[in-house]
Amino acid sequence: MTATTEFSLIQKYFSYDERRDDVTLGVGDDCALLNPPHEKQLAVTVDTLVSGVHFPEATSPDDIAYKSLAVSLSDLAAMGAEPAWATLALTLPNSNEAWLEAFSKSFKKTLNDYGVQLVGGDTTQGPLSITVQLTGLVDAESVMRRDAAKAGDKIYVTGSLGDAALGLKLLDMHDFPDPVIRESCIKRLNRPLPRVEFAQKAVECCACAIDISDGLIADLGHILKASACGAKIYYDQLPTSKAFDKSSTHLNDLDYQQMLLAGGDDYELCLVASAENEAALFSFAESMDVLLTEVGLIDTSGELSVINTDGEPIELISSGYEHFAHE
Ligand code: ADP
Ligand code: MG
Repeated sequence: MTATTEFSLIQKYFSYDERRDDVTLGVGDDCALLNPPHEKQLAVTVDTLVSGVHFPEATSPDDIAYKSLAVSLSDLAAMGAEPAWATLALTLPNSNEAWLEAFSKSFKKTLNDYGVQLVGGDTTQGPLSITVQLTGLVDAESVMRRDAAKAGDKIYVTGSLGDAALGLKLLDMHDFPDPVIRESCIKRLNRPLPRVEFAQKAVECCACAIDISDGLIADLGHILKASACGAKIYYDQLPTSKAFDKSSTHLNDLDYQQMLLAGGDDYELCLVASAENEAALFSFAESMDVLLTEVGLIDTSGELSVINTDGEPIELISSGYEHFAHE
């Protein structure tokens, strides 16, 4: 891409008019100048989505733009941070105007929905890849960290699990007999809902949290490792959507256990809180219309086990539980 093309492209597609008061200088200079409030810490995260690796090549530009922000917004949610500023490093195979137009429109809308200002970036030519760096603001005392779980704490998840993994399988099944189920699971894959607003309330009662991007077992495993704890997961209490449940009437050969325990891309939150904060946590969830389910207990076992209603460990069919033992 020539310098002129690059410059006009940035002007046209990535110089938005929305302004936050804490941005002195946004897109256009060598660096952005930002004014964080004194009493806050900065929460910084970056994620890259590569075409054909993190999303199928046929994914629409508006879904790609949405998801490239959603995954980083979900990281901020996992810490309980308030999103503030974004930078965008975009590698494009060519300057396809229709693609850029759709990408830019969706990116701008998503930024606006979460009160984030795009303050800089980089534009290069190469295989399609999108890197979004997000900075959020958080109180040092209430931030949720992976190393703060304690034996006796309860484990909760927001929303439902497994839909995005099922959506990925249904993408290629164009003749799937129930198009409503298919669409709703593909939507969960392409348009995950980062729990940003709820997380900023949850910090008041949760010690730690993680967003579920690699599957419950793997992500809870990170908490257990950082906190040097073990946990039990109540398999029968794991929340699933109606679409997920109903799909099995058409697809009984799929590994539902694997999708539920190890399916990535749901971007729900897994939260850990002490029992005395439970009532407050549920009342926040209810007031914000967020489904919250108790799914397990932190213990001193040093292991993560998945148990049935009788307390017996269930047999895990799949071998895909990479982080199951975390020693
Ligand atoms: P430099 O050569 O100093 O890195 P660039 O030509 O890469 O500058 O970028 C010019 C300005 O445009 C900078 O302020 C940069 O942050 C911004 N920018 C470049 N690409 C993007 C993008 N995709 N989104 C937002 N801002 C961008
Ligand atoms: Mg540059």
